[in-house]
Order: sequence, then C-alpha cells, then structure tokens
Amino acid sequence: MLTTQPSREPAERSALRTVVRGILDRHLPGPEALETDRRGTFSRVTWEALGQAGLLGIGADEALGGSGGTVGDAVAVTEEVARRLPSLAVDHVLTGMAMRMLTSPDCGATSSLLPRVATGEAIASYGLSEPGAGTDLLALRTRAELRDGQWHLHGQKTWISLAHEAEVVFVLARTDPATDGRRARGLSLIAVPTDQPGVQVTRVHLAGMRAAGTCEVFLDDAVAPAENLVGERGKGLRILSQALDVERVMAAAISLGIGRAALDLALSYAHEREAFGAPIGALQAVQHPLADSMAEFHAARALVDLSVRRIEEGEDAIAHAGMAKLVASETTARIVDRSMRAMGAMGLAEESAMQMYFRDARLQLFSPISNEMIRNLVAEDAGLPRSY
Ligand SMILES: Cc1cc2nc3c(=O)[nH]c(=O)nc-3n(C[C@H](O)[C@H](O)[C@H](O)COP(=O)(O)OP(=O)(O)OC[C@H]3O[C@@H](n4cnc5c(N)ncnc54)[C@H](O)[C@@H]3O)c2cc1C
Repeated sequence: MLTTQPSREPAERSALRTVVRGILDRHLPGPEALETDRRGTFSRVTWEALGQAGLLGIGADEALGGSGGTVGDAVAVTEEVARRLPSLAVDHVLTGMAMRMLTSPDCGATSSLLPRVATGEAIASYGLSEPGAGTDLLALRTRAELRDGQWHLHGQKTWISLAHEAEVVFVLARTDPATDGRRARGLSLIAVPTDQPGVQVTRVHLAGMRAAGTCEVFLDDAVAPAENLVGERGKGLRILSQALDVERVMAAAISLGIGRAALDLALSYAHEREAFGAPIGALQAVQHPLADSMAEFHAARALVDLSVRRIEEGEDAIAHAGMAKLVASETTARIVDRSMRAMGAMGLAEESAMQMYFRDARLQLFSPISNEMIRNLVAEDAGLPRSY
C-alpha cells in the first residue's frame, strides 16, 4: 500500500525513527503535544530525553562529546519530531546549528559546552536576525568592541529560538568596519553568556510554532570573554556559511514531517468520516487533492534525499539544499491546505493537530531563509544575473 513512509531506508535509520517515536510517545503523546503548543511552552523533559538518547548530538564527533551519525540521521530525527510537535523540531534544527559552531575547530573556550548541549542539559541558541536585518542579514546593527580582554556588545536580536532557556547565544555582530563596501567583512560570531545584567531576554508570542520559545534578546553592554570569539575576527559569516546547506536540508525535514503528519491525518479522517451514507474518502473530490498531495510529498522527499546524499558524499550541495527547502515547504503548504479542507470543521478544532500543522507550515516558507531569496540564489546558480 502507498504510504507517506520513507522507502528504501537503511534498517538503522528506520530503527532511529522508532527510537524517536518511542521517546515522544512516552514524554509528549499527541494530546500533550497539542497542549504544549497551546500553552507555548518548551518541553524540557522531552528535550532532555532526546538528549540522553543521543539525538541532540547527531553530527558532532563522539570524541568531542557528540553522538556521531550522519546528516541523513539528523534529517530523519527532525522529521519524526516535526510530525509530533513542529515547534520542537525548529529547536532541534537551531540547536544543530549551535552545535556546528561548538564543533568548529576555532570555537575556543565555549566548546567545553558541547557535551552538555548534546545531552540537553545546556542550551545554546543562535542569534543572527535583528529587527532591521532578516533576509538582508548584512544590514545588522549589533556591535561588539574588544576592551580589556572582553567583548562589549550593544544591539538587539529578534526571533531567537530558545534564548530564554539558553546559557549562551551565538551572536553575529559587527566588530570591524566593512571594507571595500563589502558588508560581509568585519562581522564576527561571539558566544555571549546570558546570565548577566547586560543581556535581557523576552518571549515573543506567535500564531505559529508557538512552543519553539521565540525570543528577543537585548544586548546593553553585554560582555563576553575575548576567547568566546568563534573562528577568526571579522570572518563570522564564513563559519555560518559552512553550515548553510545542512540548515536548509534540516528545514526541509521539518516541512516533510508536517506534510506527512497532515496527509496521514487527512487520509485516516477520509476513511472514518461519513457523508451521504459512505466515507468521504470514496468521493473523487476528496480523493484527488489527497492523491496530488501524496505524489508531491514523495517528489519533495526525493529532492531532500538527493541533497542529503550530496552533502554526505562531500559534493557541492548548497543549491540542492536550497531547492529541497523551497520545494518541501511549498509542497507542505499545499498539502496542509488540502488536508485541512478534507477535514471540514474538524480541521479547525483545537483537539485536532491539523490546525497546528496549518499554522506551523507558514514558518517554513520564510525561515531560516525565505523562499523568495532561495529563488534568487537558484536563478543566479542557473546563470542569471544577481537580482538583489
Ligand atoms: C519561529 C521563528 C524562529 C526563528 N528562529 C531564529 C533563530 O533562532 N535565530 C535567528 O537568527 N533567526 C530566527 N528566526 C528569524 C528567521 O530566520 C527570519 O524570519 C528570516 O530570516 C526572514 O527574515 P524576516 O522575517 O525579517 O523577513 P524579511 O527579511 O523582512 O522579508 C519579508 C519579505 O520580503 C521578501 N524579501 C526580502 N528581500 C528580498 C529579496 N532580495 N528578493 C526577494 N524577496 C525578498 C522575503 O522573501 C519576505 O517574503 C526565526 C523566526 C521565527 C518566526
């Protein structure tokens, strides 16, 4: 029978998915996940259970305190988490990015945090976006100055996931002027401890991804030891750009998880719900949109799998990862819309996960990078002039 399950997956990967589902069933069963979303809270218990099972340290070397594993493993874990609670999958992806900074050979003093982040005991978040700098990240205004062996930071970061739970935020700040008009130069990544008067964190409440712990971070003479600089001064973007393909493919995995969960829910509803003396799933008007969704879902998964293979085989994957993120998120937006229609009023009911998938699928269209910007980059990769 045709299902949304991945096909031809290695046995160890399927076993990994089973482990994730077991943890979620124990600590965050479906109704609990919906309640967590409704309250907008971060499920620390589930997080730590994922960490203790080695699922937060995937991709980081065991010798450094991570759990090893491949990008494909991390993608499978993210997809499974997103099926239950997409907000938590956002945190999984962003922690993965923080983990990449911690495993960077130039991470310096902060790397000692890695084993605790990998087990979920400590949280590190990742602060790039600002009120005036989203897609146009290089417009950021946060400044850092080195004085008497300490960085002093002033500025504001916004939409930062889990900053209210984090011990450090990796902040991208301008440390040096842009030279030759190149704004990417002179930006540095600094691990800023949150437990100090110069750092104020406030929660932001959103209509989607409500349990991801989205925050604003105010830096008013926040300090960090000089050695908390990650990588070379003025070259912070270089470290980030090394991880962009992985971040985009992980974002695509969130979309796959949401799309899969929404389609599965609609299919089972179409079996159960009756109208005019028969299940609504017997009506072509209900069947065809779900069939389109099934076909498009598998096409999106194939592109994600291709990108994962390219990354794992060390090929240039940035364009493919971008296309995977674009296709998976646009596909999922359509799947969720069609699935919700198939459920009528029940799709809007708070007791149904469909309304959560519908809201959460929105984030995937613009984060961590907007689909419009991906289209710009893909067009440029295809030989057209840069349009922005
Ligand atoms: C739940 C959530 C969690 C997040 N977590 C984090 C986090 O942990 N850390 C972090 O740093 N950030 C985080 N973000 C921020 C996220 O990365 C940004 O929302 C994203 O980069 C887009 O920026 P923006 O929202 O400011 O949109 P804008 O940049 O204001 O874009 C608005 C619109 O203009 C379009 N646009 C802009 N420029 C162009 C162009 N040149 N060509 C075509 N179209 C263009 C965009 O595509 C978009 O449609 C999070 C956001 C949310 C909602």
